[in-house]
Amino acid sequence: MIYFDNSATTPIHPEVRDAMWPYLFEIYGNPSSKYYTQANKARDAVEESRDHVARLLGCQPEEVIFTSGATESNNMVLKGVADQYSSKGNHIVTTKTEHPSILETAKYLETKGYRVTYLDVDRFARADLDQLSRIVLDTPSKPILVSVIWGNNEVGSLNDLESIAKLCNEHQIFLHTDATQVLGKIQVDMTALGINFLSCSSHKLHGPKGIGATAIKKHRLGFKTKMTPLLHGGEQEGGYRSGTLSVHNIVGFGKAAEIAYRDLKESQLKMSQLEGYLMSRLSEAFASSIQFNSDVEAKIPGIVNVRFESVNNELLLKKLSDHVALSTGSACSSGKPSHVLSSMGINVDGIRSSVRISLSKLNTIEEIDQFLIELKK
Ligand code: PLP
Repeated sequence: MIYFDNSATTPIHPEVRDAMWPYLFEIYGNPSSKYYTQANKARDAVEESRDHVARLLGCQPEEVIFTSGATESNNMVLKGVADQYSSKGNHIVTTKTEHPSILETAKYLETKGYRVTYLDVDRFARADLDQLSRIVLDTPSKPILVSVIWGNNEVGSLNDLESIAKLCNEHQIFLHTDATQVLGKIQVDMTALGINFLSCSSHKLHGPKGIGATAIKKHRLGFKTKMTPLLHGGEQEGGYRSGTLSVHNIVGFGKAAEIAYRDLKESQLKMSQLEGYLMSRLSEAFASSIQFNSDVEAKIPGIVNVRFESVNNELLLKKLSDHVALSTGSACSSGKPSHVLSSMGINVDGIRSSVRISLSKLNTIEEIDQFLIELKK
């Protein structure tokens, strides 16, 4: 089976599997317990993983909070910041092409009296910065939080986080980014850019599922960054996320982050080469009967969204399913026509004939050749 659905999830890296193993069987102590070796070893492993994740994100280890994944992190930041700063305002800004874990949370907050602006996007799903500039200058309805996805999970376009952060920092507005799709694919330094909150997930970078992180820059904009916790309880993770830590998953995430940081240049090169080869083979084979929905610049290497004229995407994927794993878009909104492609101005026919091919550093040129053979059939 050729696996080209790496934006949905990635296979676990063998080094990650090996690192996790002992924490499932031998080192099973609760890292919050204090007086015996088992617990101390578990705690040390958690802290080592935190160091690796922090290095990948460009923040301090104590700014990393382990969660169950990016869905939780996105909920945590939007709900937590909205609640914490409700006395300062009720306006939140996001974009029309976020992951459902942002959009549905924003809709929920609307039912609680918050006002949400969904920024328009251009034809490659990038947020409209002029609209954002106008909003931040509008003092009476100055937002308490701006949340913009860094790299889009369906078409791969990167938002200009540097300019967005500059704007938010100048106007003392908190900035959150969903960085789930970009880790291990582009360089991330949330401190240098001035990002206050970041969400991410381990299973998109060859780590285990059910583990992710929220990073919170502690002191920015001249005052202490805070948010109301989503889960209350035993005060783990500095009180931001109660619950016994999932040590084996954290160890796996830490190892995946270590590898992603270590191999970043090599992975970027490999994925760009694979992507270039895939796009030229597709163009050669299908000429005018395909159209690329993804941009070629400022994008995550490895995500190619392509439209096959007059082909039903679900039928195509079913026909290919014995040989190739692909998807029509986000795994989290299967069945519904893509809100991302629709916000980019693609009509329903175009959406129904679009397919997302998402590669990883573990894919090969031979797999692309084999994919083309299956596709032609
Ligand atoms: N945000 C983006 C951009 C994603 O692609 C995903 C997963 O598809 C998520 C959030 C949700 O991540 P998780 O599966 O860790 O909850």
